[in-house]
Amino acid sequence: MSQQSLVFLGAPASGKGTQGRRLADRGGFSYLSTGGLLRSAQRDGTELGEKARPFLDRGEYVPDEVMVPMVIEWFGQIEGPAILDGFPRTLAQAEALDAAFESAGLPLPHSVFLEVPYEELRRRVAGRLECEICHWVTSRGHAEECSKCGGAMVTRADDNVVRFESRLKEFERLTFPLVGFYEEQGRLTLIEALGSPDDIHTELRSKLSL
Ligand code: ADP
Repeated sequence: MSQQSLVFLGAPASGKGTQGRRLADRGGFSYLSTGGLLRSAQRDGTELGEKARPFLDRGEYVPDEVMVPMVIEWFGQIEGPAILDGFPRTLAQAEALDAAFESAGLPLPHSVFLEVPYEELRRRVAGRLECEICHWVTSRGHAEECSKCGGAMVTRADDNVVRFESRLKEFERLTFPLVGFYEEQGRLTLIEALGSPDDIHTELRSKLSL
């Protein structure tokens, strides 16, 4: 399994970033957060950021035509297995990813689904802060500076109530069907992601034999 890339599936605030980063930090994986990349692009005013802005402002998914080339380009720059946090989010993205792996002669990625009840997600999102530079996530009450890189810890613009509900709907409609897609092919590990980040990390490593 250690040679296989992993994709993290889960509703907004389910812990994809926290768990994906931790697993990648143990070594052996490159890590990409597509949400983090989009927010950096927006802050830097790049063309990608401007394309994504209206969608992010409405709490909607950014179109596949923007996302797929962006991620495939990233893959061209790394070596070895990767952890993807936030990609794929649609069936078209999952199929494009498989096609890219196939044409590169790589084993198809395995998926991890972090399952969390919606009430818990709403509670979490109300308190979360993200580093504006490296996208490390903590909750309110922690330091104002990022413990990883010293950047400022800020509330994400898309973490307000209206946008959050819209992101949850997008997740249900477009991303949740991917659980079935990967499960049918025996490429899914389900984690009930309700305990502490440490406990979830331990369960994840044990289930993935990492
Ligand atoms: P969360 O998992 O908390 O929703 P992310 O940081 O992963 O946060 O993503 C934030 C937003 O970026 C998403 O709500 C969506 O609008 C956009 N986004 C990120 N990845 C994708 C993707 N693969 N396809 C479409 N939109 C995406």
